[in-house]
Amino acid sequence: MEALFALKGLKTYCYDEAEKRFLRIVDDVAFEIGKGETVALFGESGSGKTSIAYSIMGIVPHLPGIIRGKIYFKGKNLLEGLEEICHIEDNGDELIIEKDVNAWNRVFGYEASMKQIRGREIAIILQGAVSGLNPFHKLRLQIEEAYLLNGRNRSGMKETIDNLLLRLNLTRKQAELYPHNLSGGMCQRMMIAMAMIAEPDLLIADEPTTGIDPPLRMQILKLLQEFSMNNDRSLLFISHDLEAVKLLSQSVVVICHGKVVETCPTEIIKQGKSLHPYTNALIEAHEIIHDNKGLDASEENSISSSDGCSFYSQCRIREEICLKEEPELVLVDPELNHSVRCHKWVTAQYPVVISGG
Ligand code: SF4
Repeated sequence: MEALFALKGLKTYCYDEAEKRFLRIVDDVAFEIGKGETVALFGESGSGKTSIAYSIMGIVPHLPGIIRGKIYFKGKNLLEGLEEICHIEDNGDELIIEKDVNAWNRVFGYEASMKQIRGREIAIILQGAVSGLNPFHKLRLQIEEAYLLNGRNRSGMKETIDNLLLRLNLTRKQAELYPHNLSGGMCQRMMIAMAMIAEPDLLIADEPTTGIDPPLRMQILKLLQEFSMNNDRSLLFISHDLEAVKLLSQSVVVICHGKVVETCPTEIIKQGKSLHPYTNALIEAHEIIHDNKGLDASEENSISSSDGCSFYSQCRIREEICLKEEPELVLVDPELNHSVRCHKWVTAQYPVVISGG
């Protein structure tokens, strides 16, 4: 499948005012999304999924947020040239940035390349929609602006918007209001309308059904499924909801403490053949609890500076080596493109092929 989008070695840092230092919150993340494919980023709240989405969109919070690595979209590296204008020394424990002018250059440099793409070719459904909506404009105006972003004219616009609103269980009257007039769930659906109406090549949906009641939740997932069934459109679906991940995606990238710990076809998850203890704990928690509480994970999403595995403290099968050495992401099945980051993946019940990776 032709790759529409690819991340390579993405690292994201944010400045922690309390600690007076930069924290690495995303570490060496890499994955691809094919044209017409849906990839799910799966992990607990606070695992770094949203930071990855924000990095892609160039809206890293806590400025000056810093991103490094390569973000390819339609074959072009959106971060090209930015490595040279910012001198960063990252020795694993500490990040040293040569004063802020360069850091700001980076931010604005990325902003320039993203300006032409954001909302048009790559759109995002943000978590906590109210912050993504303009409080001073009526919602219909904001949806119309999104519709017109891709150079379309106004003919057919009203009908297209009304149809989409209807499918999201929203009325024309509600669209004539301001964000503060609506509930959080309604604002979330307005945000979905804004992101989808632009018909982007890549839609990033970050926990899109948060705050939405169960009957509507399925309606929205079906809408996203329809979007993803168009061979020209790709979807990055970010969720901790296993059922939704299984329903929508063809591939899964599991994120734990800002790192990829497992990537595989969704079919592997469905068949119960995932290998990483974190993935399996998430699945188990989902099966047992069914209330979205999941693991007893730390709220802290920065990456531990210790040398070992970041899942060590919660892992039931940890060994001494796990504390001392960080495992590499190993390609265990090249045919299925299944990779796992765990010293003990070999003990799992799965007919693996060692690629030497
Ligand atoms: S490397 Fe060790 S601690 Fe980490 S997930 Fe694997 S077994 Fe558990």
